[in-house]
Amino acid sequence: MDLLSAEWVVPGAGPPIRDGLAAVEDGRIAWVGGRGAAGRPAGAVRDLGRGVLLPGLVNAHCHLELSHLAAVREQGHQGFVAWVEALVERRSLADPADARARTEAAIDELKTTGTVAVGDVSNALGHLDLLDASGLAAVVFYELLAWDPARSEAVLEDARRRVADIARQGVRTPVRLAAHAPYSVSPALLRSLAREGGPAAIHLAESEAERRFLAEGDAEWSAFLGRRGVGHVSFAPPRTTPARYLDGLGALHPGLVAAHCVHVDADERALLARRGVFVAVCPRSNRRLGVGIPPVPEMLAAGVEVCLGTDSLASAESLDLLQDAAALHREFPALEPAAIVRMATATGARALGLGDLGSIERGKRAALAFAPAPRAIDDPLGFLVSGDARARRVES
Ligand SMILES: [Zn+2]
Repeated sequence: MDLLSAEWVVPGAGPPIRDGLAAVEDGRIAWVGGRGAAGRPAGAVRDLGRGVLLPGLVNAHCHLELSHLAAVREQGHQGFVAWVEALVERRSLADPADARARTEAAIDELKTTGTVAVGDVSNALGHLDLLDASGLAAVVFYELLAWDPARSEAVLEDARRRVADIARQGVRTPVRLAAHAPYSVSPALLRSLAREGGPAAIHLAESEAERRFLAEGDAEWSAFLGRRGVGHVSFAPPRTTPARYLDGLGALHPGLVAAHCVHVDADERALLARRGVFVAVCPRSNRRLGVGIPPVPEMLAAGVEVCLGTDSLASAESLDLLQDAAALHREFPALEPAAIVRMATATGARALGLGDLGSIERGKRAALAFAPAPRAIDDPLGFLVSGDARARRVES
């Protein structure tokens, strides 16, 4: 049995424990409590010292395969549509070997910043071997992009075939069909995915351009679609909001991981809660692209399951999830740090269907992180969202 102690243990379930100890046996949590508590398992203790032992972080929305596109971040201030176009262009010009090396480095960054699980959006599926070998728990959202409804069935058929091939090749990382966004995937394809219980993930209500495109048409986005060769597709704006639109197609379903939800009104927040949708917010990415900030306190008050993601390095400066926790704390100082830490751990784990991660509880998987502190701290949860905390994974 491995006994780990620290100045603080934040178990996720229950309040922080000062002078805490967690016992790990065969990769599972065997015991958690105070170092001096009755019933504590006997044995040599590995003391991590000043700082916080916490459940490993869960990044619920990331695009590892875009890690070579950090230069596109600089275009973030030009507006959402211009940023998307820059990303698409740069991606088409990239050197595959460089892209793969950057993906590998990004996986390392996740691991060195205390992340143990990732919801990874991918169109190319070129790095599943890296994820398999990484030691991370990962779920890959295989993101379909198809605006032309005439291609819906072919795209879906091809995607199903690829997922089946991947399973046959013995890839362990689960791959689930997902959709990019309401403005880039045809309603026909969204309906087809919904009929099969999907999509597993989508970008939703991220920008004003998206909201406008569905409400009344958006000249800038329509022009971009034209440049992408799908200008011939006729699309009558449904004259509704993104979340209502998706619900009308049957695509808001329990377990859907909807990224962003910056623009959701009170009725939509209630709808997301009712449908059992997980919302993955990415506050640093949102700030970088100037799209606004999701109404997190209001979503939590409505009962929405909110988790946290970094988004890709094309919009976020790092894949350090605690920096997004800190960004959220800066945006909403009145939001309880415990709620933010829960978003970064337990709720993210449930969003990815990894319920045995996300808290330090007896029987759960021992996937832990430690954030060292330079001096004694009185408020471990506040420390975790302060921007000063740097977590690393704890090997046990
Ligand atoms: Zn994204």
